Order: sequence, then structure tokens, then C-alpha cells
Amino acid sequence: MQLINERLVPAALTDLAGQPLGPPRGLLVGRIADPWPLTSCELDLALSAGETLLRGVAALALAQHASRILLAIREDWWSQLEDFRRRIAATPIEAIRIPAAYPLDHNAIVCDLINAGVLQPVATSQISVVDSQTLIDIAALSTKQPTAWRTIAVVGEVDRPALISLPIGTPIGEIVAFVGGAPLGHAVRQNDPLHGNLVNENDAVDLDTRVLYVLSHRHPLLVRATVPAHNQLARATSACVSCRVCTDTCPDFINGGTLQPHLLMNGQADSTSAMVLGCSGCGVCDVTCPAGLAPRSVAHQLAEELRRRSFRLATPADQQLTPIVERPLRRLPIETLTARLGLTAQQPAQLPHRTLIPKRLRLPLVLKAGAKRWATVAVGQRFDTAARIARGEQTPDIFAPGPGIVCAADDQTLLVELR
Ligand code: SF4
Ligand code: SF4
Repeated sequence: MQLINERLVPAALTDLAGQPLGPPRGLLVGRIADPWPLTSCELDLALSAGETLLRGVAALALAQHASRILLAIREDWWSQLEDFRRRIAATPIEAIRIPAAYPLDHNAIVCDLINAGVLQPVATSQISVVDSQTLIDIAALSTKQPTAWRTIAVVGEVDRPALISLPIGTPIGEIVAFVGGAPLGHAVRQNDPLHGNLVNENDAVDLDTRVLYVLSHRHPLLVRATVPAHNQLARATSACVSCRVCTDTCPDFINGGTLQPHLLMNGQADSTSAMVLGCSGCGVCDVTCPAGLAPRSVAHQLAEELRRRSFRLATPADQQLTPIVERPLRRLPIETLTARLGLTAQQPAQLPHRTLIPKRLRLPLVLKAGAKRWATVAVGQRFDTAARIARGEQTPDIFAPGPGIVCAADDQTLLVELR
């Protein structure tokens, strides 16, 4: 419990369901499985930092009193991780294959494990599912190592796509130049190629950055995003042929939930139906709809309306997951997702691993709701490797990856030069 009280709680690390890692759970599942196209960060972490990853698993299992520990590994990476699996064979950790399918969030992985016959239908609150990078962060916290680095994938329309180890705070512009530049009039989308945030060259890598998709403005993914929401909605509800493919592939529905997007599309569902609150926004329905419609935006707008009217799911954390029998056949393979998103041409045979030491770090101090950071260094101050440069509240402190000097600091951004 000491690790939880002293380090995990102040750092506000969460599992894949967004639940704090503090409370004890019966079951811990570590994920070695990137959920998005073109990337293999979690495979790389298991290959290059396997011991650290396992230290993170052990520390969290101890802190959470987990009675069972699983590692969910993407089946297409199973053979590449043979040595790693041999290492864990002598431990209480069980390695389990899961499909290379999208999404790979908390509920999807629990249902994959139920489908594999490894788990019984279970209340989600009893399980933590934690991604590889968070396990590495936990290992660092447990040994009081500083948090300064990330391994991210930089893919898409660039000359030299790569997995890059770089410091938190590395500016996006410097990363794009490092991989050979981007097409004129490009955009960079962070993490989710379907709906991830667009970032610009002055934004920077932060704790939650995993993948950067560099795309030309002509790429269908970006063209689609320019269609106004009300146009999408009008087209969606008028052109739907009620084939129900969106429902048959919807992760909430196949995981045993009540969401049926085809009912939202053809007006058969009561517009106040709480089913839309089960929508994760994954976009599988947009990808699988044969008419090219966007059920996700309809579900999203109805859910927003319900939230404005203060509707809440009663106990989302205690949801009992009972996947439908056909679920294994209805999962969306990442290979199919890659093709439907128009990213197959950018699929690298293997991403090389490179290291980038940028000239400058640009650390945002204003974070998402509830979390804050303060600079702990003053303008003109010199610092050494591993010096704390920003203190976090509800987020980990940030440490310097090398010696440097503070160039500027206000309440928005800390700018440092590395020397
Ligand atoms: S998949 Fe498309 S056309 Fe079929 S029911 Fe859903 S929205 Fe309508
Ligand atoms: S975005 Fe579509 S597929 Fe995903 S949960 Fe919502 S309705 Fe289902």
C-alpha cells in the first residue's frame, strides 16, 4: 500500500478505463498490444525494456493485492516475444494471446479474455487493464526514477517512419523534421488516426502521446473531418438503409451492452434512450458502414444532449461484461481498419527504433481538467540531468533528460534549452 499512497495516488495514473490505480483489485491485466494502425510501441517496449515492464507489473500487483496477473499480447506479436514469454514463464504471470483488433480498450480486452476462456463474465470494477507505457511509468515511480522519456511512433506520409525515444516536451515540429519532413500542407493527428487531436509544430509530446500520424491535407481522414457535424447528421439519417452492420460490429453491443446505433440512425430509438451513453466514440461504426455514413456523430450528439440534461449511467464501473456469442467474428481486425482508413500504403515492414535529443523542450503547464503543473525552475537557471523541472498535481512530476538552461516560463509554458 505504501507505493499507492506515496507515489501512485499523487501521480494520478489510471488504467485503460480511466479508473485510478489506487484501490485494490482482484485481477491485473497488462497490455502489450497497440490498438491503432501502423504502430508497434508496446511491442518495442516489451522487447527493449521487458525487465522494467515486468517490474511495473510486479509493483502494481503487489500494491493492488492482485490475486491473478495476466499479460494480454497481440497474437501477431506472439512469436516475436518468445524470449520475453520464456522469461515470464517462471513467474506467476500468465501470457494470453488476444486478437489484433480495434479497439483494444479496457472492455474489449476483458471480453477478449472471456472469449479466450481465460475469464468468466465479470464486473469491470474488479479488473485493472494497464498499457505497457503506464507499467513502465509505475516501475519508474516504484524505484523513484524520474519521468522524462517516452517512446512514440511517428508514421504516415513521412520519409522515415520510426519508433522514437525522446524526452517529454519535445516539440512536434522538431520530430517531423527528424523523420524527414512532411508533405506541404500536412497535419499531425495524435494517437487515434480517426478522431485524435490535431497538433501543430509548437505543441509537444506529453505523458499521453503514443503515436503521431503525419497526413497530407488531401488524405481522406482529414477531408472527412472537415464535413460539418450538422451535414454529417442530415446525410446519416437520410441515407441509412437499416442494414444494422454498425450495430453488429459496435464494440459496446458485441461486449453485451445495449447500444444499437442502427436504431439511432433510423429514428427507432427514443432520443432520450440512455443507450447512447455506452458509446465510447471508437468510430468502428463509421468504418464498417457500407453507405459511408457516420453513426458515431449521431450517437455523440445524442449523448452530449443527454449529458447536458445531467443523465448519467448508474454504475458504469460495475458494468458486468457478458459478450455475445458471435463476438470473435465481429471484431474489426487492425489490418482491415488500416485498409479502410487509407493507410495501407504507409504500413512499414518494421519500424526502426531511433533516439531524438531535441535542442529545446516546450512543456505545457495547463493540462486537462483537474491536473496542473508548475515550473520548479526559474528563467536563466541551469539544471543537470534528472533535475525536477515541473511539479505536477494529479499528474507526475517532469524531470530533465539532460543538462540545460531555462529560456522562458509563464503560467502556460516552460521552455528550456538542452546543452
Ligand atoms: S451500417 Fe450504415 S446503412 Fe447500415 S444501419 Fe448502420 S448507419 Fe445505416
Ligand atoms: S462509436 Fe459507433 S461503434 Fe463505437 S461505441 Fe459508439 S456507436 Fe458503437
